[in-house]
Amino acid sequence: MKYKTLKGLQDILPPDISVWQHIEAGARDIFKNYGFQEIRLPVMESTDVFIRSIGETSDIVEKEMYTFQDKGGRSVTLRPEGTAPFVRAYVEHHLYNNPAPQKYYYMGPMFRYERPQAFRYRQFYQIGAEAMGIDDPKLDAEIISMLALILGSIGLVGLNFEITSIGCKNCRPGYRSALKKFLNDKIDKFCKDCQRRFDINPLRILDCKVPSCIESRQGSPPVLDFLCTECEGHFKSLKKYLDILSVSYTINPNLVRGLDYYTKTAFEVSSESLGSQKAVAAGGRYDSMVDEFGGPSTPGIGFAIGMERIIPLIKDSLSEPAGPDLLFCPLGDEAAVKAFLLTGQLRAEGLWVEMNLESTSLRSQMRKANRIGAKNVIVLGEDELKTGEISIKDMVSGEQNKSLLEVNQLIKIIRKET
Ligand SMILES: [Zn+2]
Ligand SMILES: [Zn+2]
Repeated sequence: MKYKTLKGLQDILPPDISVWQHIEAGARDIFKNYGFQEIRLPVMESTDVFIRSIGETSDIVEKEMYTFQDKGGRSVTLRPEGTAPFVRAYVEHHLYNNPAPQKYYYMGPMFRYERPQAFRYRQFYQIGAEAMGIDDPKLDAEIISMLALILGSIGLVGLNFEITSIGCKNCRPGYRSALKKFLNDKIDKFCKDCQRRFDINPLRILDCKVPSCIESRQGSPPVLDFLCTECEGHFKSLKKYLDILSVSYTINPNLVRGLDYYTKTAFEVSSESLGSQKAVAAGGRYDSMVDEFGGPSTPGIGFAIGMERIIPLIKDSLSEPAGPDLLFCPLGDEAAVKAFLLTGQLRAEGLWVEMNLESTSLRSQMRKANRIGAKNVIVLGEDELKTGEISIKDMVSGEQNKSLLEVNQLIKIIRKET
């Protein structure tokens, strides 16, 4: 019987994994400088966590969730995104009692049952950040500039930051009725989903991906025209602070996020080199989500970076990972035991050391040394055991260095401390 990964899932293997680690390490460094702490949350939540926050009529909830009953009859869902589970944890652990802003980041897999295509997987990875407790637009600008710094530091270029405001619960009703008015006499041109959404949540029609729906909603009233004074002031200040931080952006009034929970600031980062799947990161403010989850009214803002989207953009620019510091090539059983001991001792001292575990010819051992990119090689034969003296071959320069078969001296030579 042959087994394969499920459709839309992938194994991430070396050497590709080094690209992932490079991105994760780069992000961690920057999160630290901005005062963000890591949190790790379960990949599974009660289904209600998502229905309530993302919205019943969203594509994610209607079509894309991995929802099933566990053996206790509970409806559980593999998380399709990270913000709703984060807010669940924020409220559950009363994190709002800590001084604001509370800043957290996470890295991990998300799950959506989507049609697999380039850079889109059913298990996909996100790096996300959430900052809670402050509604000042300086925080919005800080979050967006941190995102720019992360993406820039891992080597992404040609990025376009698009921002908009999608209003709040005070100004959305006005926008909603203007939109309904616009859609009213052409709703039969839209898909079945959109027609159903027209009454329940017409805003959802703006992110329907059906081509005829995209065509038919051309010229719909821009949300920016309907902002209340507070939202307008917030958006104006956001632009000012982004200018102060020299983050370049464009305003995209048609930017809609496929989730219900966003308020005021919304943003998306795209890359021209990704074609139609161009978003690499996205986020926004969600000021009413905490109280909807039963906590005290607390503003929040966050973003998520799609790992599979950025990997292909930097994959080729990274150099091959280096090989081990040292490879032992023992000749004979006695030499193998000595090499075995020294390998263990040198590893305990912090060096990456390998030895050939199979007794093969010197020739094939040297071939292996080249293949794995060993930086130094020690051939250990009968003579070396007798005299206690070996030579270390530096595989880059070709130089040979004499050494006693003794841990401290070996370390000095390998670390070039002599
Ligand atoms: Zn408003
Ligand atoms: Zn539609």
